[in-house]
Parts: sequence; structure tokens; C-alpha cells
Amino acid sequence: MIESIRIMGKTIHIMAKPHLVADEEARAVLETRTLRIFIDPNIDGQEQAEVCLHEIFEMVARDMGITIDHAGMQRYSSGLYAVLRDNPEVAAHIVAGRRIVPKP
Ligand SMILES: [Zn+2]
Repeated sequence: MIESIRIMGKTIHIMAKPHLVADEEARAVLETRTLRIFIDPNIDGQEQAEVCLHEIFEMVARDMGITIDHAGMQRYSSGLYAVLRDNPEVAAHIVAGRRIVPKP
């Protein structure tokens, strides 16, 4: 369980909310006004991770003033999700700030 995420100096609260909106495709929603991400608890863990990363992307793009169409955002976040999933050791190195290559 994750209850909150720090994104660009803000705390975003994560909440479960089934059947998010009338749009049945939506599995997660970022509510910037209240700094909350709602995730449908009926989807599995891997899908929750993927949609959570997508909402993080949306928040970062918003805070950084990056304009990207939603379809592009979707493709970019699922691509990055696949890289993280396939390379957990790389993700751990990046987060820990450990060396990727040794000192010469
Ligand atoms: Zn989105």
C-alpha cells in the first residue's frame, strides 16, 4: 500500500476509488485541485503501478510546464514503465544514486 507520493515538492495522496468516472476506460485520475490520485482498486497490481506512473508523469509535466498530448503521455509512460519493470536493478541504482559504471 502506498498512501502518498512526493512529486516536485508536493505531497500527492493516493486513494482507492472504484468505477472512477463515466469514462469506463479511466483506471486512474489525477485531481490537481486537491492533489490526489484516485486508482481503481479492481485492477491488478501491475496495472495499478502502470497507471500510477502515468499520473505521476501528468503531474511532473504539469509542474514543469511540459505540453504533451494525452496519447503521447500514455505511450511515454507505458514505455518507461516497461523499462523499469524489465530493469529493476537499474531503477534501484538510479534511486540510490549509485554508480552505473565504475570509476576509471
Ligand atoms: Zn492521463
